Amino acid sequence: MTVITHPVSSSLKYRLRLPGPTAVPDRVQRAIAQPIVNHRGPEFRAMFSRAQELLKPVLGTSNHVFLLASSGTGAMEASLANILAPGEPVFAVVHGQFGERFASIAKVFGAQVDVLDVAWGEAVDPREIEKRVKAKEYRAVVVVYNESSTGVTANVQAIGAILRQTPTLLVVDSVSGLGGLEMKQDEWGVDIVVSSSQKCLMCPPGIGLVSVSPKAWKIVEREDRLPRYYWDFRKTLASSEKSETAFTAPVSLFAGLTEALEMIHEEGIPNVLARHKKLSTALRAGCAAIGLAPSGPKDSLSPTVVALHVPEKLNGGDIVKRLYEKHRTVIAGVRNKFAGRFIRIGTMGHVHEDDILTDLEHLEDVLPELGWPVTPGAGVAAAAAVMRSS
Ligand code: PLP
Repeated sequence: MTVITHPVSSSLKYRLRLPGPTAVPDRVQRAIAQPIVNHRGPEFRAMFSRAQELLKPVLGTSNHVFLLASSGTGAMEASLANILAPGEPVFAVVHGQFGERFASIAKVFGAQVDVLDVAWGEAVDPREIEKRVKAKEYRAVVVVYNESSTGVTANVQAIGAILRQTPTLLVVDSVSGLGGLEMKQDEWGVDIVVSSSQKCLMCPPGIGLVSVSPKAWKIVEREDRLPRYYWDFRKTLASSEKSETAFTAPVSLFAGLTEALEMIHEEGIPNVLARHKKLSTALRAGCAAIGLAPSGPKDSLSPTVVALHVPEKLNGGDIVKRLYEKHRTVIAGVRNKFAGRFIRIGTMGHVHEDDILTDLEHLEDVLPELGWPVTPGAGVAAAAAVMRSS
């Protein structure tokens, strides 16, 4: 067997600090390692029902939560395939890379897509959406709740209030938010929530999640939608009612997801959300103290993804590379028009205070080597102060 070791020292711990996929806790890894069970048998059905029971409060819904063998993009595509017919108008709110992706999927399916282009990294103004949906009736508004490319959230509650009394559906990507950023699907009037397993839900990639409101379900049921087979939510619901999936489930991942959800409930959903908020605030404070300015408007900062401006004389890619090479700390740059200008660190899922302090120690170590002097300990101290104060 070939083991990939660190080029400098194999004794270093690999630290997955991306905005997804995220580190999987030991408990979840052990659940995943259990023997596979029959995906149509009683053990699987029990696990499926338990996952449903535990997921609903995380989403704030009484809907069935569809669990698909896919990544987040698959769940985005499945959602649109079930509500659109070619030529139908869709309004896409684009405030980052994943909003662009949602708009592209709608275009590929032949929808007539109008876009609200929001400067990346800035807040989405719900009043702009209100103006546009008053002027034209859309089948759906699609919006990314937690834009992982910029670390900025959209006010989904306000958008839900605008659309609730209209025929337009609100389709929300919370791939990198669910389990770390509050979601009250039913109360806020969100028609479809899309997420996936590998972010705040502390699992490996491989499960896409979708929750469909009764209002959206009326559209899903129509025969005049796009052709669907694997993604057909009518099949998914029929199976879900029997505590099964329509097609062979990734059984081991289901075991992992169920265990991760048990952990979330043991900690308590409000505590989990508060932890994400506190740790992201602490990391931003620590980074600001060493000259990495946090990106994003104060009232829309993501609790799960911290995006940081890279000082002009540095390149984000070099920071990412050096952190990995020297410390095996894996953070992200950006893979878009701002490549090199931002770095991003996940504060999602199984993350605790020591992770944030270690991130800062490692940044404090590598930045001076790259030509950006810092006051040793300044970042760690600023983050620790936030942790103590809240
Ligand atoms: N939407 C958001 C906000 C994301 O962060 C991601 C992945 O990072 C996706 C969608 C796509 O998910 P996946 O890579 O699982 O297909």
